[in-house]
Amino acid sequence: MIIDMHCHTHEYDEKTIIEFINNKIFIVSVADDPSTSIKNIEIGERFKGKIIPCVGIHPWEITKYNINDVYKLVGLAIENNIKCIGEVGLDRLFVAKTISKQNEILKAFLEASRSHDFIYNLHTPRTWREVFELLIKYDVKRAYFHWYTGPADLLKDIESMGYFIGINPAALIQEKHKRIIEKAPLEIMITESDGPYKYKSLRLNPFLIEKTIELISSIKDVEREYVVRMIEFNAKKILNI
Ligand SMILES: [Zn+2]
Repeated sequence: MIIDMHCHTHEYDEKTIIEFINNKIFIVSVADDPSTSIKNIEIGERFKGKIIPCVGIHPWEITKYNINDVYKLVGLAIENNIKCIGEVGLDRLFVAKTISKQNEILKAFLEASRSHDFIYNLHTPRTWREVFELLIKYDVKRAYFHWYTGPADLLKDIESMGYFIGINPAALIQEKHKRIIEKAPLEIMITESDGPYKYKSLRLNPFLIEKTIELISSIKDVEREYVVRMIEFNAKKILNI
């Protein structure tokens, strides 16, 4: 099984989603806002056991929403037995100007979901340690740092908390992400696509995960099969399946 731990599945048509599934790709589908959260819940129902839906408000979208929207979404997640909150987080790289509102929204998610053991699917450009510390403060047990390009010294802390990092096909062309594959242990890695986001020349999509696995296998100098099994093991651990 190929794992896509972070995909905006709601942006694909049904035919394409079926193609992913037919290619044995297991997907965690992140949302951008309340309406795509609802769409994700529907996708999760339609593809039960193949796609795990998340609800969330992306840091790039937070200006349109307030903490009441957050509380509604968390309520919706609890009602519908949704296991995952995302894509949420903080971003000082692309949208630094809205950081205080971003904090307000993320903290509202953390507060509202206290004692519910959600998986956090996190967006953390230039806020890696800041978000890590919030997770500790709010006693989050399961967290995933999507497309991790953060500091190498945080990797040990992420590992010691039992959290995971996302390895994205961007590593094929993004040097700093490739360096994370060199430095991080396989034990904390999960693959993802972030499809259909476009990164430079790459239109990210779940089919590119195969190439990402080959890259990990060559950098770590282990068999492809071993990487596949390890990532599946890690994903099952965080998803509790
Ligand atoms: Zn994303």
